[in-house]
Amino acid sequence: MTGESLRQPIQYLKGVGPRRALFFEHLGVKTLGDILAHYPRLWQDRHETRSLSLPTPSALVVVRGRVLRAATHHAGPRLAIHKATLATAHGKVECVWFKHLSRRYDAFASLKKDTADGADIWVIGHVEPDLTGIHEIRVDEHYPLSDERWRIHVGRLTPIYPLTKGLSQRFVREAAHKALELAADTARDIVPSELMLKRTLLAAPQALRGIHFPRSEAELEAARARLAYEELLLLELAWILKRRQTRDLIKPFSYDIKRTLLSPFRQALGFELTHAQKRVINEIFDDMRRASPMTRLLQGDVGSGKTVVALSALLLAVENGGQGVLMAPTEILADQHRTTLERFLKGLPVTVASLTSRTPKKERERIIASIRDGDADIVVGTHALLEGDVMIPRLRLAVIDEQHRFGVRQRTTLRQKGSLIDLLVMTATPIPRTLALSLYGDLEASTIDELPPGRPPIKTCLSNESEAFATVRREVAAGRQAYVVYPIIEESARLDLQSAKTEFKRLKTSVFPDLKVALVHGALPGKLKTKVMTAFASGEFDVLVATPVIEVGIDVSNATVMVIQNADRFGMASLHQLRGRIGRGASESFCHLVADPHTAQAKHRLDIMAATSDGFRIGEEDLKLRGPGELMGIAQHGELALAVADLFKDGELLRFAREDAEALLRCDPKLLAPGHKPLRERLIALYQSRWNWIDLA
Ligand code: ADP
Ligand code: MG
Repeated sequence: MTGESLRQPIQYLKGVGPRRALFFEHLGVKTLGDILAHYPRLWQDRHETRSLSLPTPSALVVVRGRVLRAATHHAGPRLAIHKATLATAHGKVECVWFKHLSRRYDAFASLKKDTADGADIWVIGHVEPDLTGIHEIRVDEHYPLSDERWRIHVGRLTPIYPLTKGLSQRFVREAAHKALELAADTARDIVPSELMLKRTLLAAPQALRGIHFPRSEAELEAARARLAYEELLLLELAWILKRRQTRDLIKPFSYDIKRTLLSPFRQALGFELTHAQKRVINEIFDDMRRASPMTRLLQGDVGSGKTVVALSALLLAVENGGQGVLMAPTEILADQHRTTLERFLKGLPVTVASLTSRTPKKERERIIASIRDGDADIVVGTHALLEGDVMIPRLRLAVIDEQHRFGVRQRTTLRQKGSLIDLLVMTATPIPRTLALSLYGDLEASTIDELPPGRPPIKTCLSNESEAFATVRREVAAGRQAYVVYPIIEESARLDLQSAKTEFKRLKTSVFPDLKVALVHGALPGKLKTKVMTAFASGEFDVLVATPVIEVGIDVSNATVMVIQNADRFGMASLHQLRGRIGRGASESFCHLVADPHTAQAKHRLDIMAATSDGFRIGEEDLKLRGPGELMGIAQHGELALAVADLFKDGELLRFAREDAEALLRCDPKLLAPGHKPLRERLIALYQSRWNWIDLA
């Protein structure tokens, strides 16, 4: 939406002023338009409560009444308890306020005034049934009927906004209301009028009123759908334009399947590629040999052998005189890829370089030079590859492993390291096509739907710790190795890490004193991490205690047991990834999920894990339970500029938006028509910096 008065600074809104304007800025709100785009995070039903006879403790209660009497008791030097008796439609109701005197004396004075005898007020709070059976409402907010502003806050669906320090819910709500009164009518639709008609969309002013102060659930949903459609239309336009960037372009190089490297590589592999691997390699090669740059998604369950497929593609690039990049989300994984590549490429005239953020400065300079001078054929690394001084002059192909850990912006940056290069992104988490389109733009997908032969399935069970540790002992006695994994979740990362360390000591000294136990976690310096992993891989340790840093990609085929502690704290996709670290050799493997699931849903998830090892099925279940954002670990959800739209739930709107975006760009490829100008401006504003790209020049 756009409009002149929407650009007015919020500071001049009555009651805001420079100090509060600063607080608003923390919310990203600078103008009236911004506050109108600061949508509520939920809408509370604050219609008057019908009955107080069966109050649910802690449920919201909304009542209106006349004050019969009120009194204040001082409950301490700082705390006052204010009580009022109201005559309401439900009879007499006791209300209680708890107030800190020290901080907000004014607020207390006005409370006394508001509850003067005979005053009419609304109270919003929670019921606490007391011993005598008379209800007492603990009041959160109250509004005198003498002040018309109560209509903004109560007796309706009331918006609840995301807040920041210095701003109260009440204040933000009133500011939003004022901004609506002042500016909503000047809001213009950026959606072209033909689409407004075709999709019978609410006009901008109505949509804004409906999302902030809906008069009914239906109005709210119509407004939400209208705004979601706009967001999705912009997203789809952005994707189409981005795609156009590569689709009609002709690569400045071409490939021949020479087999000078591919044949010896295949012969030295030591195993036969599966049919699925051969098929996807052909799909990828066909793509690479096309004139326009490739953008392909390679999906394959954990352990399906994506690395050799990627390596085949990289070798095709190298055979043709190019350079290739393999980028991984973690250092451990990048290190492992390097080791794997070196092993598979032994004896071949291919130079592999590797670069991560922990590469020492001197060495980094040397490596960068070798990449720049073209001595390195394949470069393996982490985000460190994206830095500006890493120049890859003959770059032809970039492979991104565990794609969901990277954002559009990073993908674009990597792509821009070369001119019109091919891109292959890999993931172990399958996603439905419709979602893939909106998350990745236009990707062709290849799927490895077969595991290499001779892999006995992993036996997964829910168990207690002693059962789990008994399996560890048994397998170690048979010459195998084990992982014991502890969760690290964001909010309590430090505590979690602490507990992993403590647990390590416990396992080492009292549970397995006779075994060789090592610890690896994400906070270890990179060198040390690699050292521990390498030592474990070469059999120097029996048991590896780990945080989920081992989640992706680790490949130690002698490890046959994994114990996952507090398994209920992991998502299913993560559990599946973790579990994929075992079952990599010919021997039977065992995964013990140690957990005490408290909810039915948690139990259900773990049961599914025990029942199936099919990553696609697990992905689907996870999608149902958690929605796509979490499933794909999109840390950078913000890059999609979606405030109200939900890619998972708004499937139909998404389809409409895609159709409409395509039609729009077919007749006006650069959105230059006067009627499309606002849309074009918004598109640039939204996606230019987010994606480090926009192609509307
Ligand atoms: P992921 O798809 O999870 O990345 P990897 O590429 O790490 O899987 O492969 C898992 C293991 O299977 C590796 O040790 C790899 O060498 C091995 N592998 C890959 N393809 C085959 C095959 N066709 N036959 C036997 N082993 C294979
Ligand atoms: Mg892998």
